Amino acid sequence: MAEVEGMSPAAGEVDAGAGGLRVGILGGGQLGRMLGLAGIPLGMRFRFLEPAPDPPAGAVGEVVAGAYDDLAALERLARGVDLVTYEFENVPAAATEWLVEHGVPVFPPPAALAVAQDRLAEKTTFRSLGIPTPDFRTVDSLEDLHAGVAALGVPAVLKTRCMGYDGKGQVVIRDRAGVETAWQELGARRRLQGGEAGPAELLLEAFVPFRRELSIVAARGRDGSLAFYPLVENVHRGGILVRTTAPAAEVDGDLEALAQGYIRALLQHLDYVGVLALELFQVEAGLLANEIAPRVHNTGHWTQDGAVTSQFENHLRAVAGWPLGSAAVTRPTVMLNLLGSAPPPETLLAEGAVHLHLYDKAPRPGRKIGHLNLCGEDPASAWALAGRIEAQLGG
Ligand code: AMP
Repeated sequence: MAEVEGMSPAAGEVDAGAGGLRVGILGGGQLGRMLGLAGIPLGMRFRFLEPAPDPPAGAVGEVVAGAYDDLAALERLARGVDLVTYEFENVPAAATEWLVEHGVPVFPPPAALAVAQDRLAEKTTFRSLGIPTPDFRTVDSLEDLHAGVAALGVPAVLKTRCMGYDGKGQVVIRDRAGVETAWQELGARRRLQGGEAGPAELLLEAFVPFRRELSIVAARGRDGSLAFYPLVENVHRGGILVRTTAPAAEVDGDLEALAQGYIRALLQHLDYVGVLALELFQVEAGLLANEIAPRVHNTGHWTQDGAVTSQFENHLRAVAGWPLGSAAVTRPTVMLNLLGSAPPPETLLAEGAVHLHLYDKAPRPGRKIGHLNLCGEDPASAWALAGRIEAQLGG
């Protein structure tokens, strides 16, 4: 158990059953909820730190309400837990550093957070490991942006280096006229928010005319053991994931080995422990790395019903220092996100191979409120089922 200076370990302990592990999690959203659902059968108990009221993870553990940089809240999270992990990659690095300084083991290592939080650090890391990325330029001024567009051409994608997710913080520049608009949208606004005219900290990326989007999710244990889930195919709409097909069709051994080589290099370079996701663009020449997520990932949700061991269980097994479970596919699965609202469960569940995962979140346009895993004996039956359900969802 981690002793945290100045704290009474007895007060407010997470009570675990005999031999159970007490896990603290930064973030209490749906990923925390699903980690809890996977860990409870393993005898784990959970405590979450979450700023938003009434979070999805409240159903599976104790919630400490507070900001990630609130030291009193961090102390309450850490009190009596064996380790801390995170389900949200924009937690301030200082929060994880504080935990480590106070003797609390934190997995995945905070260094992985630092890389994932900054698109420039991320791309630099990819390139240092020989992992190809889209061409890019850093942009701190309107002049930089004009120069970047001249070099990369249009279309191009302007992105904030930090705090971007689900397509937020990015604008596609389609023509020369779009340069000023994009700058107003991201560069000028950022400067206004920052008060003084400082660096805008943006990145301009060449627009990739990808054949399709793929991702690979893998787990690395404390002993360096590895488990790779297969490449999956993802469809995004407005920057938000709507569908994952697992395994991806038309993947030969070479492509799978290429993706595994990339994520293995990242896992080893970061001395990583836990589940890591790598988002990729498939192009003529192979694969380009888009971004990593140092946590369980939406493109791994299919593993709950389509793999021997889910990504959630493997993440917990990894951070606990326990043996990893097999990442082999049991049934081809299509995952559909439920965005905004969803038909009633009894309607969705009319077919046997439909698995519903709701997050207990209030409906709101575009909000991820749950997902469906649609399984088949073979890929064609999973795809056919997904087609019928998508029609019901109006997708
Ligand atoms: P991101 O937040 O970087 O993962 O971007 C969200 C989505 O926007 C991606 O999954 C792609 O569908 C699209 N996207 C991002 N960057 C590019 C790019 N350079 N070229 C083409 N599409 C992109």
